[in-house]
Amino acid sequence: MTVGFIGLGAMGAPMAERVVKAGFRTFTTFHKRREAADALAALGATVVDSPAEVARLADAIITILPADAELEEVTLGKGSLAEGFSPGKILIDMTTATASTLLEIEGALAPRGVRILDAPVSGGTTGAAAGTLTIMAGGDSALLEECRPLLESMGRVIHVGGVGQGKVVKIVNQMMAAVHLLAIGEAFALGIRSGADPHTLYSVIKESSGYSKMMDLRLPGFLLEGSFKPGFKLDLMKKDVNLALASARGQNVPLLLTSVAGSVFSAASAAGKGSDDFSAAAAFLAGLAGVEIA
Ligand code: NAD
Repeated sequence: MTVGFIGLGAMGAPMAERVVKAGFRTFTTFHKRREAADALAALGATVVDSPAEVARLADAIITILPADAELEEVTLGKGSLAEGFSPGKILIDMTTATASTLLEIEGALAPRGVRILDAPVSGGTTGAAAGTLTIMAGGDSALLEECRPLLESMGRVIHVGGVGQGKVVKIVNQMMAAVHLLAIGEAFALGIRSGADPHTLYSVIKESSGYSKMMDLRLPGFLLEGSFKPGFKLDLMKKDVNLALASARGQNVPLLLTSVAGSVFSAASAAGKGSDDFSAAAAFLAGLAGVEIA
């Protein structure tokens, strides 16, 4: 199987590197900046001029783009994958986007014989580099088996249902991650203001009922050090929370905690923190109380 890889960002670049190093012949292209594509070429990938060209050359094309708009542009827009696809080709979309957008894309491409796998990921840039991502796969079982060796070069695959269900599971994860992160910011603000040491709070709560994995993911290296180099950009988490809110409106599900989380991420973004790691939102929330977690 030959592979196309589009979206060489914080996640895509290390994921594509694993694919190339696993021995898959890989084609890529670039958007605005060439550096990431050139770095992949140095490992053996071939850089071509457009997504359409990638779709002509590769059997299975992976996309991992910021969100719905970019995914639509790359799959269906001018010079897009759609222009290069022929029957039997595979689109594996790993973007955190909405199920409805992916289903629309499937509606446009499936009648032309393109097969679609939904495969968003969790595990961050560290998991991307180590090949330990959790891959939430939605789609046909036989197609998933065909793609399994490729996907397993990037992480552990869990089949969660049909096309779109990967997106659903990923958005639920993001809602929980966002709320857990902000809970740390708010609770630590009170603890620190009341005299507790943040390292003590971490080590005790790690063994107690208030623990969440988010503490391990975003206290050391980020909140405890006051260092917010992404990682996962705050504006991308804001986007994920908004995807959850939009999908909940369509389904008539009230999201009280997620609504507040969305407002905090919007306020932190408006305060200039959109390109920082998303953990900056917890520091921003603690900052409303005049407390520094670091
Ligand atoms: P990023 O902004 O670092 O990378 C996005 C990449 O897409 C960039 O290289 C950009 O050049 C490229 N791109 C944008 N528009 C394009 C277009 N029209 N054509 C071709 N390329 C285009 O984002 P990221 O952190 O790598 O995240 C990518 C996706 O993965 C997002 O949906 C995000 O929510 C999700 N995600 C991120 C993390 C994380 O920790 N960073 C973890 C899990 C999931």
